[in-house]
Amino acid sequence: LAQLFRPLDLLGMVYRTIRQGAIDMGSMFELIDTPAEVVDAPDATPLLVTRGHVRFEGVRFGYDEDRPILDGLDLDVPAGTTCAVVGASGAGKSTLARLLYRFYDVNEGRITIDGQPVAAVTQASLRAAIGIVPQDTVLFNDTIGYNIAYGREGASDAEVARAAQGAAIAPFIERQPDGYDTRVGERGLKLSGGEKQRVAIARTLVKNPPILILDEATSALDSRTEADILETLESVERGRTTIVIAHRLSTVIHADQIVVLDAGRVAERGTHAELLRRGGLYAGMWARQAREREEALAAE
Ligand code: ATP
Repeated sequence: LAQLFRPLDLLGMVYRTIRQGAIDMGSMFELIDTPAEVVDAPDATPLLVTRGHVRFEGVRFGYDEDRPILDGLDLDVPAGTTCAVVGASGAGKSTLARLLYRFYDVNEGRITIDGQPVAAVTQASLRAAIGIVPQDTVLFNDTIGYNIAYGREGASDAEVARAAQGAAIAPFIERQPDGYDTRVGERGLKLSGGEKQRVAIARTLVKNPPILILDEATSALDSRTEADILETLESVERGRTTIVIAHRLSTVIHADQIVVLDAGRVAERGTHAELLRRGGLYAGMWARQAREREEALAAE
């Protein structure tokens, strides 16, 4: 039971869990090949989420001892708020999410949820409390209903249908001749990037976790699909503590707080407007992305 996850193949990750349906898969974990053994403490107790307050306190972490990735990271995400994490490629954004999920243990400092260190609670309870919407969703060669129900063992058909509605994929499913029994994957229905993401969102809704990690898709969805999905995600985020790993800044404007990671620490934090006024790293990134958007539009 201690070992809930195992990378199985080269094609991204297939993690398997035996109990509790605490499953999430995605490319945010793709870089893990042999995760260090993380085991439950002998006196581990189940995590009790009362509000969903997430804190990182002086967290230091490196995959290799001689190369720190996070170097004294402090982060405070009050219950029910959305925190977007931005920073250059390789800054450690996904690493931060992996540590919250306790794929690795921190070298120094601690991460707590409602005051309970993640290292002190059972992994099953920790992972049941956190939902992940990954960049690229791995679908099983099974029915679309199964793929959604996978979010939580024992989910009923009614719960699956409700989740599909919440993820705005119900109309699409209902249009298929076999409805929720339609097979997807290699030998079944091919889903677009946006549809796959909606399946991931529906899975998360079935799981109904108090804490959410969104690993924003880097692969380009067309801007209409992206806008639609963002709208869906906003309703999923409501009432949950959310950490968004953001690659494009256009998606973080509404976050309650934005943190800019640089050299393993939080270099800037604030709302979009505050960070623009500050004229620092974030403002520079924003100007650069705006220029790129304009160039892309001009090229069309
Ligand atoms: P991106 O925006 O490109 O997704 P990121 O900010 O999410 O980047 P991370 O994936 O957290 O960055 O990676 C931070 C650093 O840690 C990178 O230099 C990466 O090469 C390194 N790294 C990530 N995973 C591993 C691993 N399993 N083993 C060793 N190094 C790793």
